[in-house]
This record gives sequence, structure tokens and C-alpha cells, in this order.
Amino acid sequence: GAFCDIDLGCSSLNGNVRRCGYVKPTPVQRYAMPVLMAGRDLMACAQTGSGKTAAFCFPIIARIVNGPGPGRPRRGGSRTACPSALILSPTRELSAQIHEEAKKFAFQTGVKVVVAYGGASIHLQLRELERGVDILVATPGRLVDLIERARISLHLINFLALDEADRMLDMGFEPQIRKIVQQMDMPPPGIRQTMLFSATFPTEIQRMASDFLSNYIFLAV
Ligand code: AMP
Repeated sequence: GAFCDIDLGCSSLNGNVRRCGYVKPTPVQRYAMPVLMAGRDLMACAQTGSGKTAAFCFPIIARIVNGPGPGRPRRGGSRTACPSALILSPTRELSAQIHEEAKKFAFQTGVKVVVAYGGASIHLQLRELERGVDILVATPGRLVDLIERARISLHLINFLALDEADRMLDMGFEPQIRKIVQQMDMPPPGIRQTMLFSATFPTEIQRMASDFLSNYIFLAV
């Protein structure tokens, strides 16, 4: 049931991987997944089309399923959603694409994936969030809005993936990203696994890696 020699430890997830037609892992999947399954932080230089979406989604889903358990109920009467994983991406298009893929990977695992991006009705997104969320895929601007409306709390985040980090910086999202990560670092401190994906590794990305990641593995594929 393993994806080549990488055992995700979850039969429904292994089945979804097969159903997606993934037989052989791409290089970023082969090298990033064991690191992420072992719970380590990761900085990966990987291009669009390298298969990085699955490289971070499979371990996140597997670790939610095998960890404290998915489908954490919302606390009584609270309208604040508390996802356990956050995937930040620069654009609405990329977020929608990650959401579609992650939903396929999470099929019948009990892990709920929700997307929130700007330029679309916030009310529909709020209604989705109210029904519970394990993995939130979001653009930085819309997420800050949802946090300010107290509709999202990041205090239970165990997994943070920053996708196309260099593009997020190019688009001027650094202040929002720092604000978002700061929310996660507020007490009580959780144990967060952080993964940063970027096509390039300029000084600003190196600084972000040293600020957000702890004792991380560096991978260039
Ligand atoms: P990404 O770089 O994550 O946007 O993925 C690029 C494309 O490759 C997507 O259409 C994926 O569905 C596909 N893909 C990713 N990993 C694999 C794999 N191991 N085998 C076959 N197709 C894959």
C-alpha cells in the first residue's frame, strides 16, 4: 500500500494516491516526504510542476489522520474555526488548485479541507468554515481579514506550509505573513511543523526560513 517506498500509514490516503494515478514519486516527493513524515521542518527549492503540492499535502493529511485525529469538533457555540493545518499560497488561482488537489487526496480520510481567498464572496467561505476545517488553504490577505473578524484562530495549527514563498514576497505579502505566523506563536505555544517551498532562495527567503523554521532540512531539487 505504499507510494513506492514511502509508507503514509493511512490506507484511505494510499488508495487516493493510487486513484490519482501517482505511481512513482517525483524527486521533491521522494526527498521531502520522509523528512515531513518524520516531523522535521523543511525548506525546499522546487519549481511549479515539480509535484510539490502532493509533497506537502500527503504528509500533512497522513499526520492529521495518525495524530490527535481529524474532524476536531468546534467548541460549543464558537463561530471561530480552528484548523490544524494552514497552507498559504500567493494567488486565488493557486489556492483553488491546491484546494482541489488536497480534497482528492483527503477523500474518505475524514480530513476536511477548506479554501479562503480574496476577490470572492467571504460569506460563502465563512459558511464553509463554520462546518469545520482541518486544513485551510488561504491567501495571506483574506486570512488576515478572517483572523481580524475572529472567524479563524490559528492557536491549534500544527502544520504550516508556505507555498511559492518567493512569489508571496514579490506580491508584498511579507507583513501579512509575519502577522499570521505571529498569531501561531502566541501562547500557549503549539508544536508547529513548518515547510517553506520556493522556486528561488534569495536573502529575503533565507531570512524568512531562519525566522519561521526550526532546525530545518534544506532541500534543492
Ligand atoms: P504540482 O507541482 O504540485 O503543481 O504538480 C504538477 C502536476 O503533476 C499536477 O498535475 C499533479 O497532479 C501531477 N503529479 C504530481 N505528482 C505526481 C506523481 N507522483 N505522479 C504523477 N503525476 C504527479
